[in-house]
Amino acid sequence: MNTSATTNALAAPKGAQDDQVGTGTALDRVVAAMEEDIVLGKLHPRERLIEEELCARFGVTRHILRQVFTELSRMGIVERIPNRGALVRAFSTRDVEQLYSLREMLETSAAAQIEFPVKPEDLEELTAIQSDHDHAIEQEDLVEVFRSNQRFHSKLFDLCGNAYLAEAIKTYAQRAHGIRFHVLISPAKRRKARDEHHMMIDAITRQDRGALIDLCRGHLPPSKNAYLRTFGTLID
Ligand SMILES: [Zn+2]
Repeated sequence: MNTSATTNALAAPKGAQDDQVGTGTALDRVVAAMEEDIVLGKLHPRERLIEEELCARFGVTRHILRQVFTELSRMGIVERIPNRGALVRAFSTRDVEQLYSLREMLETSAAAQIEFPVKPEDLEELTAIQSDHDHAIEQEDLVEVFRSNQRFHSKLFDLCGNAYLAEAIKTYAQRAHGIRFHVLISPAKRRKARDEHHMMIDAITRQDRGALIDLCRGHLPPSKNAYLRTFGTLID
C-alpha cells in the first residue's frame, strides 16, 4: 500500500522485522488502521494518542508505533507536540479554507485536462471501482466506502495524464482525512457522493467537460462545511 511506509519499514532496525504480519508490515497495518480511525471520526481532532494503549491494541513495540506517528505526521493527519506527544491534527478555519481551495484548483484543473474520449478500458475500470463503492455503501461497510472512494478518485485523476498533478491531488486529499469524516458517517451524504460519482462517469461518457469540472468542484465542500460547523469555533 503506502510506499513511503514500506520504505521506512525496510529501513527499520532488524528487530522491527519481527512485527511483520501477513503480506504487509506491522507498520503499514497500523498506519492503515489509524488512518481509518481518523477518517471515520473514531479519533477526534486534538485527541491525544496514548502510546501504551495503542501498543497494546495493535500488538506492536513503541519503536514501531513511533514510526507510525512519523508516517501519519508526514501525511499531515497527526501532529507531534514536544512534551505532549502525538495528537490528531486539528485544522483552523483558515487551514481548512486554504486546503480546500488548493484541492479545488488541483482537481478542477485535472478534470479540465482529461483527454476525451477516455479509453474504453479506463472507463470500464472506473465503472468497476464505482460498483465496489456502491456495494460498500449498500453494506454500510465504512472502511470499504472510504477505500473504494479513494480508488475512484485516484483512477479518475490519473486520467489527466500528468502524474505530478495526480500525485499532488492524492497528497492533499490525504491531508484532508481528518476533515472528511462527516460525509463518511452520514448515510445521506454517502449516497449523495455515490450519485455524484455516477454523474462524473456519465459526464466522461458524454464527453461533457463543463459538467465534469462542475461535479469535481461541487464534490469537495460538504466535508469542509460540516467540519467547520462542528469544530470551527472550537479550534480558532
Ligand atoms: Zn468521492
